Amino acid sequence: MLEIKHTLCPSCSVGCGINVILDNDAVVGSFPYKRHPVNAGKNCANGRNSIGNFVNKINEASISNGGADLIKAIDEISKEISTNDKVTVVLSGNNSLDEAEAIKSFSDENNFNLLFYADDLRNFEEVASYEDIEQASSVLVIGDILYENPLIGRRIVHAKQNGAKIFSNIKAEKSVTANISDETTSTSVQEFLDNYKDNLDESSVIVFNTVDSSDDLDKIEGLGSKVLPVYSKTNTKGILNIADPNSKEEIIELLDNTKVLLVFNDDIVNEFDFDFKSISKVISLSAFENDTTKISDIVVPVKSWLENEGSFVNAMGESQDFSPVIESDALGIVEVIEKIKG
Ligand code: SF4
Repeated sequence: MLEIKHTLCPSCSVGCGINVILDNDAVVGSFPYKRHPVNAGKNCANGRNSIGNFVNKINEASISNGGADLIKAIDEISKEISTNDKVTVVLSGNNSLDEAEAIKSFSDENNFNLLFYADDLRNFEEVASYEDIEQASSVLVIGDILYENPLIGRRIVHAKQNGAKIFSNIKAEKSVTANISDETTSTSVQEFLDNYKDNLDESSVIVFNTVDSSDDLDKIEGLGSKVLPVYSKTNTKGILNIADPNSKEEIIELLDNTKVLLVFNDDIVNEFDFDFKSISKVISLSAFENDTTKISDIVVPVKSWLENEGSFVNAMGESQDFSPVIESDALGIVEVIEKIKG
């Protein structure tokens, strides 16, 4: 029997709604959530493909790439983290707020290093709403937002249709954002801001998903315009209220000083150019197979977002709750942490 259930897209921080199609409780597809206020009936390709992850679902624990009993795998994790110093815990924008709180407490209580990457961006207390973009007289765009975060890109297109001037700074040779921009440059972010700051007024918005350095963030904040940082992971904005982010350089230094790496639902191997073989034990708690689980010494399956409940905070700072779309026997991250502690 076909059934439709609503949830959130897990593929970037925009916070679009998504409808999941179930056939006798099996996930068979998705389509956009028409009445959702964020995306109003559209999902981008990344959003539509997020359901495709399900073919890579991890169903059983493993130790050294061989199937293992879940309890044995959790015992092994407890042993590794209690007998080694230099343990680093990876907190991710893929984690829900409850999971992030539990991971942070677990790391703090055990004096582990906490690693959290927020795209080299940081938290901005006051951020523009998506409606602010549509009403702006000018929009300064840093990064290829139309390609990477299309449902915010759509708001930029609406702003242009409403008469706004669009100025963009994009390093890539080809970009989708350039197609709708009045002017596009590929200078440093500092130079771009210097060149276009005179086009800003009180309704303007600076939208960005990348910068060259943290100095750029200070400069963006100093211009006094509305700002909207857009993160690559669903709940990075929410987790920035729980933990401080690390820069790429800090992360490489942390990894250099790590003997046991405990990764909570992330694919750090795919994200950072680092020799992960130099770490004695890599441990993954993950719903889906990825480059990190492939090189992990211990893997514990956890509930995916489709099997879980929780809250994500989207780029404009709205907390959005989600409920399970399908049932699962897997443990959630919070439950696994409780078992590791015990
Ligand atoms: S813009 Fe982001 S949240 Fe929206 S459908 Fe695309 S990937 Fe998902």
